[in-house]
Amino acid sequence: MPHYLSDAELKRTAPAEVAAFRGPIPTQIVSNGEYNPLPQTEEQRKVEARVTQLASDLAPKHGLSRRKFLATSAGMAAAFIAMNEVFGPVFEVSRAEAATPGVADLRAQALSGQFIVDCQTHFVRDDFKQEGLLDLAKYAKTNWNPKLWGESKLERYKFENYVKEIFVDSDTKVALLSGAPFDDSSWDLLSNDQIIAARTSINKFAGSRRLLGHSVFTPKKDGWMDQVDRAISTLKPDSWVATWVLDKGTPSDERARLLKHEQGHYDIVALLARDLFNEIMAIKAKTFGAPDDPVDAVKEILDTYDPRFQSLQDLYDGKTGHGLEAGEQTRWNGLIARAFGESRLSAELSGPARPGPTPLVDVLKDERILH
Ligand SMILES: [Zn+2]
Repeated sequence: MPHYLSDAELKRTAPAEVAAFRGPIPTQIVSNGEYNPLPQTEEQRKVEARVTQLASDLAPKHGLSRRKFLATSAGMAAAFIAMNEVFGPVFEVSRAEAATPGVADLRAQALSGQFIVDCQTHFVRDDFKQEGLLDLAKYAKTNWNPKLWGESKLERYKFENYVKEIFVDSDTKVALLSGAPFDDSSWDLLSNDQIIAARTSINKFAGSRRLLGHSVFTPKKDGWMDQVDRAISTLKPDSWVATWVLDKGTPSDERARLLKHEQGHYDIVALLARDLFNEIMAIKAKTFGAPDDPVDAVKEILDTYDPRFQSLQDLYDGKTGHGLEAGEQTRWNGLIARAFGESRLSAELSGPARPGPTPLVDVLKDERILH
């Protein structure tokens, strides 16, 4: 699969396996290569420091090193505690789960019957020959799990082992099988027909719907709508995945501009999610008369934000002509950067006011894009 970071962006990023915090949860955004990740935020830095502190305090009680402690269920509980301290009470976790040996394991056992859906799984077709794929398993064996086997044979990625690892070795109850298109089709993992054939055979064997299937489509590639029509009428996928495949002939500055436009879509979602979270957290500082009042207050916020996620994406596409209007695109790049960077005093918070990020909607109102 390609990545979409420019050389300049790659210079300012580092691979997660060497640069990321070695804890139970990521403490900054890790990009899959399709977008430029945000720098670590102040809150994420606090979580990271707090996890380190908790590990130092609690690892000796478990008779473990800090690193080993953080790899246990108790270490995971410590990470949830740290996030609750920084972001508010989001996760249901008790201090005993992190502090007392055995408590987190008991909780994990009690929850082991939970329904688990894995919504992105892959295997490769029987005649797949690209040995470059073996690098993934070799890397995983060297860096993550020395017990991995079969890292030098493509069988590891094929149907039989997929069934074993997804449905026998793990707790997954239902999986969604996907595919991925490549410029060089000898790299294609599975065709849409092969995905659906696998779904049919697994579900027949299981006697229930254990495997769901994607159909993959590639907008703007020759004949792509015909492929969509055929999938609808004959394959009947459970869901779809669209992959943005750029023509090889696209001039690099246009490619960069279009990618910047796509980055804007990601950024708008990230900003709205941030603003929504901050508004909900501000409720904690308020006093309410009746028990139902805070529930109503949360509902009101959700009702306000719900339609915004789509309407602001539409507005962005409309104003920038899907990124083709260079001037308007530059303007939006600036607005988005402003919403990421600017602080203001929040009127929402009672008690000592402190500056918070300026909501995206306020930036758009300032600029008279929204009224
Ligand atoms: Zn767009």
